[in-house]
Amino acid sequence: MNSPYIGKFRVSQGFRPPENPSHDGIDLVGIDSKEIHATVSGTVHFAGWENANDHTQGFGQYVCIRSTDGLFYYYGHMSELKVKTGDLVACTDVIGIEGSTGHSTGNHCHYEIRNAFYKGAKVYDVCNMSGIPNVQGGTYDDGYRPSLQTVITPSLYNESDIKVLQTALNSHGYNCGAVDGAIGPKTTASMFSALYDLWSL
Ligand SMILES: [Zn+2]
Repeated sequence: MNSPYIGKFRVSQGFRPPENPSHDGIDLVGIDSKEIHATVSGTVHFAGWENANDHTQGFGQYVCIRSTDGLFYYYGHMSELKVKTGDLVACTDVIGIEGSTGHSTGNHCHYEIRNAFYKGAKVYDVCNMSGIPNVQGGTYDDGYRPSLQTVITPSLYNESDIKVLQTALNSHGYNCGAVDGAIGPKTTASMFSALYDLWSL
């Protein structure tokens, strides 16, 4: 299954199952493009405002596609819709443009899968079904390969893990400088030297 974006995108908020506390979908931010694409083929079950009288409510301007698999795929918070209720769409068709309408504090697409078109319907694990990694802050291309930035982004790791790595690098003769728990240019360079040596063995 494709993601709603063609090209690179970032996971700004992960999926959390009920009582976790729940976030029923995954929030994605387009990096290469702001176009939102259908991730399934089916019929546009609804395209419009969640509340036409209050554009800050819920999903704001959103699209719900009833897929040929019978499930309902939601794409929330759009700035612009490119389809209307009743349209037939094919997977990867452009259905709208990323935005921040509804209950939202910044441009993103809330992507969610339910078994019926109403609030409180059974919610599916969108990451499990789509293959999009449930890693908040992760940046991926549309083949879901993590960007190098994601792999080495310090915020994804805690300081003590980085210190363990730095100590290990220093003790194996890869000078990464101070054991400071932050991944700077020296640590990055010594990590790559170590990886290069490992691959060449
Ligand atoms: Zn969301």
